[in-house]
Amino acid sequence: MEENQLMESGVSELNSNAFFIDPVRILNRSYTRFRVSPSTYYSRFFDSLNSAQSPKASEDSRKGKRKRKKKKIQSLNEREQIADRRHQEVKPFLLKAHEALLKATDLLKVLRNLRNDGCAVGECKELSQESSELSFMDLGGVWQAPLCEIVLNYQQDDKTLQNGGSPLAQSIEQKVTPVFNNLVANEGSYDIEAELFNHKYIIPKRSCFYMCDMQQIDSLIPAGSDCGFNLIVIDPPWENGSARQKVRYPTLPNRYFLSLPVKQLCHTSGALVALWVTNREKLRDFVENDLFPKWGVTYAASFYWLKVKANGMLTGELDLFHHRPYECLLLGYCGRKDTHSGNSTRLNPIPDNRVFISVPGDYSRKPPIGELLLDYVPGSMPARCVELFAREMIAGWTSWGNEPLHFQDSRYFAES
Ligand code: SAM
Repeated sequence: MEENQLMESGVSELNSNAFFIDPVRILNRSYTRFRVSPSTYYSRFFDSLNSAQSPKASEDSRKGKRKRKKKKIQSLNEREQIADRRHQEVKPFLLKAHEALLKATDLLKVLRNLRNDGCAVGECKELSQESSELSFMDLGGVWQAPLCEIVLNYQQDDKTLQNGGSPLAQSIEQKVTPVFNNLVANEGSYDIEAELFNHKYIIPKRSCFYMCDMQQIDSLIPAGSDCGFNLIVIDPPWENGSARQKVRYPTLPNRYFLSLPVKQLCHTSGALVALWVTNREKLRDFVENDLFPKWGVTYAASFYWLKVKANGMLTGELDLFHHRPYECLLLGYCGRKDTHSGNSTRLNPIPDNRVFISVPGDYSRKPPIGELLLDYVPGSMPARCVELFAREMIAGWTSWGNEPLHFQDSRYFAES
């Protein structure tokens, strides 16, 4: 039952408050000609010895870690104690969701094979070590950046099909446009290939990106507020120990995010704002007391992303203080007029403590749960959606950041 839902939509309901998701299937709804290759998405947690461990072996190793944790708890400072209380409050929801996953035996069988999905044994694509990725941050920082152009290759039959005709022999129509500080859009109903410095990128149907540094984010503010966004997902490059250690992208001090023009990005009918935060109490405190008030966002609910390995076990000990196997998405409303006019029943109330479970992809890559938020988004449908600090693109969305093409590199895709 759950496995059928997963196969069809990429989302499987475990209980009324918990869902298992396959990000690859969800992302693939944005593509017609290409598909996200599961073996490149699931670059971790499938091959490790741990993932091959039986749940029993994992349980034993967790017991070992628990001993270490107990020693630590006695030395928690005041802020850490608040964080621990927060953790204890959410823990029952996380455990219930995880128990539901472990009971869904057919779903667990599918989970184990997600990485090999759709490819014959031995045919799965590995990320090539030789072909290096373009560094958009380096490119965007040089004086020639305004001259860099991306070539969008539209296949001629796109247009024929859009006009209701049947596909003709394929010919390519090219559009050349600046890649930085420019809204680059594929308005067609088919994904297209784009070229930049001999690298190929796959651009989903009906999607656009705006690649620039935060200093230029004001260019994203719509000219008319009825062109603003109804759903704003934000995954800031927060400073924290692990981001610094792995240095995959530059991080910024918290105060920089106060100047994000969230209010100006909102649609006149208001917006649901979804902010990814780490489990550090200092950050939570900053968001609640400084950031949300400055952005004009009223807190509404928290969702959680619980991370599991291929064998269904958590990626880490739930109680291990600095490496929790879950992340939090804080939800709030900005500029929602009907809240004040007593007309707020129009929107479904957001359930608190909803849990999404998935196997993580690359470092810091978040699961694409934007679509699962649409029920709570104000304004008319289709909602206008934007992701800030994005590293990938989704059909129907605008992706903004200094590397929104990162996971669009053709090495993450296979042809359908
Ligand atoms: N949500 C993304 C995902 O799922 O893959 C991860 C986003 S990551 C936490 C933060 C992103 O912000 C990185 O891509 C980083 O390069 C970008 N970033 C860092 N400093 C920036 C700046 N000054 N302006 C724009 N983007 C920046």
